[in-house]
Amino acid sequence: MTSARPHSRFFRARVTAITDLTPSFRRFTFGGDDLADYGDPGLDQRIKVVFPTEATPIDAMPTGEDWWTRWREMDEASRPPFRTYTTRYVRPAAREVDIDMVSHDVLGPASAWIARAQVGDEVLIFAPTTAHEGVSYGIDFVPPAQTGDILLAGDETAAPAIAVILEQLPREARGVVVLEVPDAADAAYLPVHPGFSYHVAGRGVAGGRRHEHLVAAVEVSAATLVPAGRGAEVEEIDIDRDILWEVPRTAKGGAALKSAPLYAWLAGEAGAIKTLRRHLVASHGVDRRAVAFMGYWRLGRAEV
Ligand SMILES: Cc1cc2nc3c(=O)[nH]c(=O)nc-3n(C[C@H](O)[C@H](O)[C@H](O)COP(=O)(O)OP(=O)(O)OC[C@H]3O[C@@H](n4cnc5c(N)ncnc54)[C@H](O)[C@@H]3O)c2cc1C
Repeated sequence: MTSARPHSRFFRARVTAITDLTPSFRRFTFGGDDLADYGDPGLDQRIKVVFPTEATPIDAMPTGEDWWTRWREMDEASRPPFRTYTTRYVRPAAREVDIDMVSHDVLGPASAWIARAQVGDEVLIFAPTTAHEGVSYGIDFVPPAQTGDILLAGDETAAPAIAVILEQLPREARGVVVLEVPDAADAAYLPVHPGFSYHVAGRGVAGGRRHEHLVAAVEVSAATLVPAGRGAEVEEIDIDRDILWEVPRTAKGGAALKSAPLYAWLAGEAGAIKTLRRHLVASHGVDRRAVAFMGYWRLGRAEV
């Protein structure tokens, strides 16, 4: 029997704790009775957080099933802004949810909120409910049932998703993590999985170039993980116009392949992910049906 409850909805939540985990990762713990049926499908489950501004309180957010259409119809100045994040932990009994947010330069509504938020502040979170029934909408980590190695790579915005994936993979899983973070001390953010080797580097205050480590370390990892193959052509994507989001799936939402020697999951700034896509598919010949590429944000461009 299917439930009549929606598989996802807006939850009203209040900040109950703010914890600086490392120089760049700030954990917001949210609480509230409304979180009683907040769903936890796990892995890289993406969610939307609606941030209040002085001009746009969260109560102005349309929250019905047609919220997206109604939000777009609103006058730009009166639309409450929202941005995409990842559920880090859900504690149903305590009605609590943790979301780890990177504190970066204040350039948009999320970074502005992250810098000034206090315990007691309210947001809306669009997330699955407990009625999600395994529906994987919003989960993009879909490896083949038989996977040899797993490559998890990204920048700081992908770190919360990589952390959940590492915690949920079985101990026998093996692979490589490549992560580029703002500060070397941010490396402590990731949980340790015994089957993975870690290549984590900080860009450093002296200004290591953005993506330098990420691109170089993925190249080195690919050379060892992938047997030399014949590169396939990749069509160019204009990342300033289109969203770079390629997640191979079957029509039913499962993995595109039954087995693969390597499954790669890559997320972060779209320019870097575009470069990695070219390296992996065009140069190394990695089967694109076993690679998820996701542009989580774009330098110089707001999310919505
Ligand atoms: C599926 C998914 C999951 C995500 N999960 C997380 C998560 O768990 N934690 C997390 O911190 N982020 C996560 N992000 C990234 C987050 O959504 C963006 O960083 C967001 O755009 C920040 O919003 P903003 O209002 O600060 O900036 P926007 O208004 O979107 O953009 C304004 C400016 O800020 C720049 N900008 C945006 N993000 C960054 C950044 N991280 N560093 C430097 N400059 C930036 C943009 O290039 C633009 O110039 C995720 C994104 C996606 C798509």
